[in-house]
Amino acid sequence: MTDIPQSNPGANYFAHQTEIDAAVQRVLHGGWYILGAETAAFEQEFAAYIGAAHAVGVGSGTDALCLALRAAGVGSGQQVATVAHTAVATVAAIEMCGATPLLIDIDPATYTMDAGQLQQCLQQDSGRSIRAVVPVHLYGCPADLGAIAALTAQHGALLLEDCSQAHGAALDGRKLGAWGQAAAFSFYPTKNLGALGDGGMVVTSDAALAARVRSLREYGWRERYVSETAGVNSRLDELQAAVLRVKLRHLDAENAGRRALACHYQGLLANSGLGLPASSSAGWQVYHQYVVRSKQRDALRAGLATAGIKTLVHYPVPVHLQPAYAGRIAVHRSLPHTEAAAREIMSLPMFPELSFADVETVAAQLVQLQPANP
Ligand SMILES: *Cc1c(COP(=O)(O)O)cnc(C)c1O
Repeated sequence: MTDIPQSNPGANYFAHQTEIDAAVQRVLHGGWYILGAETAAFEQEFAAYIGAAHAVGVGSGTDALCLALRAAGVGSGQQVATVAHTAVATVAAIEMCGATPLLIDIDPATYTMDAGQLQQCLQQDSGRSIRAVVPVHLYGCPADLGAIAALTAQHGALLLEDCSQAHGAALDGRKLGAWGQAAAFSFYPTKNLGALGDGGMVVTSDAALAARVRSLREYGWRERYVSETAGVNSRLDELQAAVLRVKLRHLDAENAGRRALACHYQGLLANSGLGLPASSSAGWQVYHQYVVRSKQRDALRAGLATAGIKTLVHYPVPVHLQPAYAGRIAVHRSLPHTEAAAREIMSLPMFPELSFADVETVAAQLVQLQPANP
């Protein structure tokens, strides 16, 4: 019996090997490796794909979040509201720009920011110290952007979408990443649009904000060798941009493949007693992860592992309970839905090259392991 991995970036390379090899050769032979024609072309293609005016390639998704906040003037002495149920990178980026994170709970149906909690927390912020809100479209599922965008506008706060798991997802026909003043994307190899290394992107329709990110990513240069502000080195390189241009052309088809796999899981697990992902007609989910929920999560994972099926937990420790943050990070009230999710969730195998037969194997194992629904 062959193992079923949880994700498989290598399979994605082999799926597009001829095109990727040609793109890499083109860059190698061109002799220009940082911020050249490939990055510029990819920035334009990605901005057009999302439906925004500008995109600026940076070194990672974490840097994209941090530099977007810095470019918007968010920093020391200000608060940024986000969720604790996310990659620690979201919160790390807020601290990197000098601001103070404020963590709020999730809606357990979507695992994304609870707009009702956000509203309470903005109402209590009479001093207007919350300067930005960062919803995370976790697992490729849209956050409640209609409500969140209205609340941030009312409060005069920046809306920065963390789209690191949501390339190509949409809500009400509008791509995620085109809703806020800015959005951050990661191209970490396992993401829906993954590079062969690190990479990230800031997307915005604000020309001034884009120009500030462009400057910040390269030492705060106004012109070559003249720094106007204290910037950093965080650039998307030409090799990654060339590879990402190839993969962007296949993104919609691959997201459709993920949706078909999710639909297959959904049918096979309908009577399993597991908590399954919610789907809404307004949201176009791209299933970065297919996440199920059970009080017997650890036993199920162990049983699947014995059968050669790899799963992961995204994420096992909420940010406010991590050693680096516990006791010093601000939390709006308490985060019961976040903490319950962390105990019960698991991410099943999900990547575009996964076969329907593999989904059937995983589902059959789960149904066999899962005690009958009480
Ligand atoms: C991957 C990820 C990031 C960070 O991206 P890197 O490119 O690894 O820095 C941020 N937020 C979320 C939700 C992510 O999944």
